[in-house]
Amino acid sequence: MVSGQVVENVAVKLLQLAVTELPQDVKDALKRAHHEEETQVGKSQLEAILKNVELAEKTRAPMCQDTGVVIFYVKAGSQVEGLDKVETALRNATAKATQEIPLRPNAVDPFTQKNTGDNTGRHVPYIHWEMVPGDTLEITVLPKGGGSENVSALGMLSPSQGIDGLKKFVVDTVINAGAKPCPPTVLGVAVGGGADIAMKLAKEALLKPLNQPNPNPELAKLEQELREAANSTGIGPMGLGGKTTVLDVKVDYAHRHPASYPVAVVVQCWAARRASARIHSDGKVEYLTHKVA
Ligand code: SF4
Repeated sequence: MVSGQVVENVAVKLLQLAVTELPQDVKDALKRAHHEEETQVGKSQLEAILKNVELAEKTRAPMCQDTGVVIFYVKAGSQVEGLDKVETALRNATAKATQEIPLRPNAVDPFTQKNTGDNTGRHVPYIHWEMVPGDTLEITVLPKGGGSENVSALGMLSPSQGIDGLKKFVVDTVINAGAKPCPPTVLGVAVGGGADIAMKLAKEALLKPLNQPNPNPELAKLEQELREAANSTGIGPMGLGGKTTVLDVKVDYAHRHPASYPVAVVVQCWAARRASARIHSDGKVEYLTHKVA
């Protein structure tokens, strides 16, 4: 039986970890980019980002003032009892974390423009559910910043445009975005499904560690081509020029309708925040993305 209180405590901790400490794979990618950057201005921007990351970790303060809209991904073991308590626990955790960490209140009613003040609202935090075999509950939090979300794009391409059309759409998205998403970014790209499925898969692709190549060799090749094409734009760190515009590109796909070729690009900024934990049936908690003493 999963305890609502344990889920709430773990989710507060995950939010704190996510906004104050980047996962090691993202830190390594930023360090690598700094090492390889050739322009003076690009190097100094990456240096400032790395210093920011280090300070946030040391002082336990959010690395960016925009702590994003809170999205949870829950992998629920089919043998876990008490799953009906999880949604309330995640909402409570979001409100508590907003006050304690603190997080910037980012949940605004689109009609009245009223901010709820605690990052909860209709469909916020958003919870993605996946049923999996087993008796553990895996929770991932993705706080998604507005600057990078605003330049995400969906293209309902024609199937005749194919992979070349996809590549052009991705690079055009990067060029149109320019400095706005605080590059170097991570791109989640998905093709196929319908409009909603492509966007969902593209955002979920942002959860993949940056140091693991795609196990599908075709997709790994496409990711590399897209990475090189995006970096050849010269937009560079914070849009001030340089060779690192994207840290990585992650591709996923779904089968599609014969008449449709949706391509989704979800852009994530350098603050590629995410944190995951697994709660076992005996209440033991295992943090998967961060070291927790
Ligand atoms: S895009 Fe990312 S780094 Fe830039 S302000 Fe938004 S959350 Fe912060």
